[in-house]
Amino acid sequence: MVMQDFGVTAICCTPSYFIHLVERAAELGIDLRELPIRAGIFGAEPWTEGVRVHAEREAGIKAYDIYGLSEIIGPGVASECEAQEGIHIFEDHFYPEIIDPETLEPVPDGQEGELVITTLSKRAMPMLRYRTRDITAVIPETCPCGRTVRRLRRIGRRADDMFIIRGVNVFPSQIESALLTVKGASPHYQIVLTRESGLDQMEVQFEVTPDVFSDTVSALETLQRDICKAIEHTVGIRAKVSLVEPHTIERSQGKAKRVIDKREG
Ligand SMILES: [Zn+2]
Repeated sequence: MVMQDFGVTAICCTPSYFIHLVERAAELGIDLRELPIRAGIFGAEPWTEGVRVHAEREAGIKAYDIYGLSEIIGPGVASECEAQEGIHIFEDHFYPEIIDPETLEPVPDGQEGELVITTLSKRAMPMLRYRTRDITAVIPETCPCGRTVRRLRRIGRRADDMFIIRGVNVFPSQIESALLTVKGASPHYQIVLTRESGLDQMEVQFEVTPDVFSDTVSALETLQRDICKAIEHTVGIRAKVSLVEPHTIERSQGKAKRVIDKREG
């Protein structure tokens, strides 16, 4: 492989794109665990522990979360260390505050709220108390790695990503977490929202792996039922769960589009 020639041992991309690479490698008969890549640095979209486990297992890497936003500097505002227990924010450059998005008041460490960032060293375009719309919390304890810059809880949710269905606030990352607790489910999924006779419906379409797809009908039904239960347990509402053939859901080259809202008005 070319990568070996250059001694490349890390990859940085969106987690959904990496999952796509894992899948392509399998199709091409390449075992990623035999390549020299040892670390994946993934960001630009919320992702879950389930995806981390999948990426680490399939590619033989350690998967680290990186956080940033183009309005500040792009990636690198905060990053996980080897402990993989929250993202260290580089406080010498970025001053973080967590606020209640409704009252705009700061919340105590450990409590969830919206991350607000003030840049301390940026010259041409400084940002003062920039509201990120990202939901997180300050982790009060010091990190096992020994660094003293503060950590933020992994950002699994953006206020913008949230959708409301039958009065319940739902984040796509909650659906992803639920899916990945079920054995045989793949991380390729899409949420389709529709309205039938005035009532909101949520359909979760997810792809099964080729070997699961060729399984018996009753095994597929069990998988479908297990996923339905896991979603109901996580978000508290029932979803229609559809199993779709491998490669049906469009692969993202950048940020994955998880929600298709067909409801009107
Ligand atoms: Zn650390």
